[in-house]
Amino acid sequence: MEFISTRGQERVTGAQAVVRGIAKDGGLFVPQTFPQVTRAELEEMLGMDYPERAALVLRKYFDEYDPKGLLAALKKAYAQFEDGDAAPLVRVENGMYMLELFHGPTCAFKDMALTVLPYLLRKGCDLCGIRQNILVLVATSGDTGKAALEGFKDAEGIKIMVFYPDDGVSKMQKLQMCTQDGNNVNVVAVKGNFDDCQTGVKKIFASEACAAALSEKNYLLSSANSINFGRLAPQIAYYFSAYCDLVSSDQIKMGDKVDFTVPTGNFGNILAAYYAKRMGLPVGTLVCASNKNNVLTDFWQKGMYDCKRPFYKTMSPSMDILVSSNLERLIFELSGRDAALTADRMRSLASTGRYSVRAEELKAYRESFYAGYTGEAETVDCMYEFFTEYGYPMDTHTGVAMSVAQRYEEKRADDPGAEARPMVVVSTASPYKFPQDVLYALTGNDVKDSFKGIKRINLLTAMKVPEALKAIRYKPIRFKQGTVPDKMFEEVLKFVSSEAPAGAAE
Ligand SMILES: *Cc1c(COP(=O)(O)O)cnc(C)c1O
Repeated sequence: MEFISTRGQERVTGAQAVVRGIAKDGGLFVPQTFPQVTRAELEEMLGMDYPERAALVLRKYFDEYDPKGLLAALKKAYAQFEDGDAAPLVRVENGMYMLELFHGPTCAFKDMALTVLPYLLRKGCDLCGIRQNILVLVATSGDTGKAALEGFKDAEGIKIMVFYPDDGVSKMQKLQMCTQDGNNVNVVAVKGNFDDCQTGVKKIFASEACAAALSEKNYLLSSANSINFGRLAPQIAYYFSAYCDLVSSDQIKMGDKVDFTVPTGNFGNILAAYYAKRMGLPVGTLVCASNKNNVLTDFWQKGMYDCKRPFYKTMSPSMDILVSSNLERLIFELSGRDAALTADRMRSLASTGRYSVRAEELKAYRESFYAGYTGEAETVDCMYEFFTEYGYPMDTHTGVAMSVAQRYEEKRADDPGAEARPMVVVSTASPYKFPQDVLYALTGNDVKDSFKGIKRINLLTAMKVPEALKAIRYKPIRFKQGTVPDKMFEEVLKFVSSEAPAGAAE
């Protein structure tokens, strides 16, 4: 399978797409065509376990990778998930299901891809004949950083460096990252918000001077951010898997359409759902749920993307994003794959913070997606009511999704022409990952200490506390350093020049 850039003519293999992360023209790599999963293959998937289902999907994009090696890597990745099933589907009421993607090593859905990416990257380097060391650079709004650190720690020939916004992540997220072990990792706080972090990392990627300086140290840059196709591909698989689980448990018939609601930030997760649809999965509407940073909701309403607006810090920090990078891939598809136009729009976004799409494109956006947002108070209400009614605790990001999903369902119920369809709400983090806010939503109680919050949620819900979160309480803080956006590359150079990670002096 060949991949092309959303902004130009560049053509690469799957391995190259993963290793490079981003195209030379600044565009994102997309598959030349959408490979199809046939009805027979979907039937076959019913009897498979999660790694086998994922292998079937991934093989279609990464056909130059050895299929046995790929399956083995997937089995190994998903064996790290608690309780055996990497992506269980939970029925909460008639027609409403939760797709739980938080049972991995860092308790957020980013694990679904970041436990697999190191394999795709390392094998990709082999396939491309690359002999240099790899430096993985990550900008994180909280969950990606930790998941990437866990995925890449102690990987041979690879160093990983994570930048996070100084006070844009939750206490638990910060603690998870700053206690990270592994001898090839580094974590640095950046003054500013997530967009500042992401822009800083993108600048380093776009700079030839940076590449040359790193090359001198025998390092090649790569990205674990969700713009990397190696992040996107493993996420497509769980939409297929959820569908298979609905069929296997007699909730739907093969071929029936299913709606998904996805709590959205950088647009990676929901884009994977759209890719699944383009690969032939019977999907109805994709509901794009945002928090108060509702730039996507406005886009769907007005046809204009406008990120010049106030930035809000919310209880769902992984969705506090104004520039949703992966939207570029959808812009490209719905423009009729017009690379010049996509490049134009992205230039406009960079210079003015805005771009518009044509009326006929907007129609296509609305055909496949519904976009909505919800405020903090509504999210808290929804989490409280859902727990009271169904005994199901959810994290704050999933709370946003549920709140928007309920609004969407009400709207559909008012529409006499709308057929009933099952709704799968994608649950992206463990409630224990945001213990203070979750405890507040469920009980109205404020606690200062995250671990106290965990204990109280456990007493209240009897839900099992993930081992990974229990353990960090007793781990030493290794990383305390901070920087400003303009000095990020200096930190990078320091890191690749050092034998041991900067924070690991003790
Ligand atoms: C990253 C993240 C999101 C947003 O996903 P995108 O792919 O960036 O849209 C939502 N919820 C949680 C818990 C996350 O970690």
